[in-house]
Amino acid sequence: MGNIKQQSNSEHEIIIAGGGISGAALAYGLVAKGKKVTMLDAPTKTNKASRTNVGLLWCQSKFLHLPDYARWGFHSCNLFPELTKELEEVSGLEIPVNYTGGIIACIGENDYESRRDYIVKLREKLGEYPGGMISRSELENKLPKIGFGPDVVGAAWCEDDGVIDPLALLRAYKIAFCKLGGNLVETLIHDVQAADGSYSVFTDKGRMDCERLVLAAGLANRRFAQFAIPNVPISADKGQVLLVERMPPVMPIPMLGVTQTFGGTIIIGFRHEFIGHDTRIVPEDVATEGRAAMKIWPELGKKRLIRAWSGLRVMPEDKQAIYSRLPNHPQVILVNTHSAVTLAAAHTRHLPDFALGGELPDMAKGMSLKRFGYEC
Ligand SMILES: Cc1cc2nc3c(=O)[nH]c(=O)nc-3n(C[C@H](O)[C@H](O)[C@H](O)COP(=O)(O)OP(=O)(O)OC[C@H]3O[C@@H](n4cnc5c(N)ncnc54)[C@H](O)[C@@H]3O)c2cc1C
Repeated sequence: MGNIKQQSNSEHEIIIAGGGISGAALAYGLVAKGKKVTMLDAPTKTNKASRTNVGLLWCQSKFLHLPDYARWGFHSCNLFPELTKELEEVSGLEIPVNYTGGIIACIGENDYESRRDYIVKLREKLGEYPGGMISRSELENKLPKIGFGPDVVGAAWCEDDGVIDPLALLRAYKIAFCKLGGNLVETLIHDVQAADGSYSVFTDKGRMDCERLVLAAGLANRRFAQFAIPNVPISADKGQVLLVERMPPVMPIPMLGVTQTFGGTIIIGFRHEFIGHDTRIVPEDVATEGRAAMKIWPELGKKRLIRAWSGLRVMPEDKQAIYSRLPNHPQVILVNTHSAVTLAAAHTRHLPDFALGGELPDMAKGMSLKRFGYEC
């Protein structure tokens, strides 16, 4: 902690460590309740999944084995229209978003049947499900400007899915946060320590003390939570994304793995890899991703690839979100989830009360660290 000035500042009622989409969604929710909040975010190249993602608002494939988590995703998607309207008003920014439903193209009969089976079981678990399987001709009616490959037999369809510009959402959260009196500080956090009921965050800009602390620093939460637990059960899930040249609007409804951005480029990304913090772009993987996309939409093979990048998703061990107080530290909450864009609306509306000492909604009550054997 070489350059840290040892100055104490106990003005901070609540500090949020991390200003990615999770931290920003919660921070905005807290200032909207009139709370005094300081959000700290690194200006440097730390892990920032919030700036490398596709922006899908996606509930249809998450998860049959976790029905409460599935409900939570649908709940969040349903909160989005009102939230984005509010954020646009407060921030003054436009947030491009489509609430048009979402599609997963099926390659071959086996794929189609297993998706059908999944939806049937999910509908049974949830009691209702806004979507189902569609045939190839129904798919072509929904996306008439896409020439689907010969192996595409149909698709899974969900009405509650959509797509948002994730950078615009993040920017709007941060501007709205500041407009409502939030204090956003760009600084690198080096360490977090507990001391007699308060918490000290050591940063490039000095030490900052607070009564309540939210750990929302993505994969860095593992390091920052060490004063309470040795190993937050999360790992890095690498995704590699390809960006294909701009086209006129051809995809009014987003498709998992191949989605047109609001700027017209096509973003491709199917991979999940658990290989630590390696963020290199691997040319063979780029080729595999491209081939998978061309099976769905062969014309992509004639387009220029303009960029590829990778990002590290934050993946809880059992895939379910973690919203938890830390053992013996009820004033500290930890937020870690892999679909934090989809869940942002639920985070804004429900996590502030939890951060202030209240309860989570019933459908999220099982998402604490208790399920990993911690007392909290
Ligand atoms: C390729 C890819 C595609 C994805 N597609 C989607 C999608 O379509 N829909 C969806 O819902 N989700 C998607 N995700 C997942 C989504 O991006 C993540 O769930 C989300 O970004 C997690 O947000 P977060 O704020 O919890 O963590 P992060 O995005 O990792 O943010 C953590 C924040 O903490 C800050 N931080 C970290 N360390 C420090 C430090 N030492 N000091 C100060 N600040 C620090 C960082 O600067 C960052 O701003 C995708 C992810 C990837 C990688």
